[in-house]
Amino acid sequence: MLDVVVIDGKARGIIARNLITGEIERHFGHSVLLASGGYGNVFYLSTNAMGSNVTASWKAYKKGAFFGNPCFTQIHPTCIPISGDHQSKLTLMSESLRNDGRVWVPKKQNDPRSPKDIPEDERDYFLERRYPAFGNLVPRDVASRAIKERCDAGYGVGTSKQAAYLDFADSIKRLGENVVSAKYGNLFEMYEKITGENPYKVPMRIYPAIHYTMGGLWVDYNLMTTVPGMYALGECNFSDHGANRLGASALMQGLADGYFVIPYTLGDYLAKEIGTKAISTDHPAFVEAEKGVREQIQKLLSVKGKTSVEHFHKKLGKIMWNNCGMARNEKGLTEAKAAVRALREEFWKDVRVMGTADEFNPDLEKAGRVADFMELGELMIDDALNRRESCGGHFREESQTEEGEAKRDDDKFAYVAAWEFKGVGTPAELHKEELKFDTVHLAQRSYK
Ligand SMILES: Cc1cc2nc3c(=O)[nH]c(=O)nc-3n(C[C@H](O)[C@H](O)[C@H](O)COP(=O)(O)OP(=O)(O)OC[C@H]3O[C@@H](n4cnc5c(N)ncnc54)[C@H](O)[C@@H]3O)c2cc1C
Repeated sequence: MLDVVVIDGKARGIIARNLITGEIERHFGHSVLLASGGYGNVFYLSTNAMGSNVTASWKAYKKGAFFGNPCFTQIHPTCIPISGDHQSKLTLMSESLRNDGRVWVPKKQNDPRSPKDIPEDERDYFLERRYPAFGNLVPRDVASRAIKERCDAGYGVGTSKQAAYLDFADSIKRLGENVVSAKYGNLFEMYEKITGENPYKVPMRIYPAIHYTMGGLWVDYNLMTTVPGMYALGECNFSDHGANRLGASALMQGLADGYFVIPYTLGDYLAKEIGTKAISTDHPAFVEAEKGVREQIQKLLSVKGKTSVEHFHKKLGKIMWNNCGMARNEKGLTEAKAAVRALREEFWKDVRVMGTADEFNPDLEKAGRVADFMELGELMIDDALNRRESCGGHFREESQTEEGEAKRDDDKFAYVAAWEFKGVGTPAELHKEELKFDTVHLAQRSYK
């Protein structure tokens, strides 16, 4: 799907490109439902499927749907560390591993010893030390930041020094290898295939990676965006998870949105639309939307520059990860905003998209996605700049407790930031949806 068609203020269809033939198609509908997933791939390296993208949500945003909390990104602590610059994908090791694995780094900085040569009293089980009540089971954002903190301070392990150990030795001793294998055998096998190391004998190495985006299209309780008749379901909307996706899972959201909410709320909307006859796809709004899609494709193909789409994506990902990733600050974000804008300009001057429009063309497909990521990146940065507090997956370095934990500022920021598109390169308009808690009240989290 490459655009949404809006007629008289209501979503009435989409423009799609057939990925096999390149044909551009118009589809009418009395309403439009988007279930196009999250946008974690804006960071280039993530645990998301390679095809995950923001295009559908982004086009909806440009057609008037507000974008909620775009900077809220979940980082998963238990991923296989980056092994080099050739990589385009990161692998998630299941969260369940932290039930039995203990996370540690050496107590000595830049310790070159192999883990088996580091005695027990020279190991820092830093999650157990910092969070005695929860230990290795602290939430994802807390564990991720703690791993990053140790690595940044020079205690990281492995060749890159950007990793911590996840050690099963104690569990194997306590439960026996058979029990551990019954619980995690498939994961251990996968880890060994990727790294060449046997986690029954050598501790796993882990590092946090982008995993889930809590931000997305703003929706009401009926899952409708700010464009009447346009709905957003699942990870592509902003709802349910707040800043942290702590108590809610994607599975829950997928089931709730798809099975329990939309069949009722959509019916309610369509009941009022029953008198509207099918609109011809010759309607000027369809013609106009298709023209825009074709122009964008031609624009991408006609740059004929020297630099690959992949190169731009990778560069964007690095800017986003370094400045709008696990930790954010005013200076880094401001620099990143300028860098993303400059990269976007360079992209439109120098990108080389292979092939033609009328064929199966993954390079062209990806170019469109990266073009949208370049615009989204700036909105994520603006959102992160605006939220001068730490909140779940959004950690502003200026807003932390004396112990280095995330510090909320509910007096100023207890709102959903819903952004309205005003043009590429023009600041989006911020709308604030106030958050009210009647029964459970907002409080500083503590896992001590
Ligand atoms: C490795 C991994 C492990 C996970 N483990 C868990 C877990 O244990 N528990 C849990 O609750 N969650 C987990 N998640 C998260 C969960 O899988 C996702 O949040 C969930 O699948 C999102 O569902 P969705 O239907 O909203 O989107 P998706 O499953 O991402 O589906 C979106 C679909 O839309 C298509 N699409 C995108 N853009 C367009 C477009 N422009 N036009 C047409 N089609 C488009 C995509 O191709 C895709 O098929 C995990 C995620 C990953 C990556």
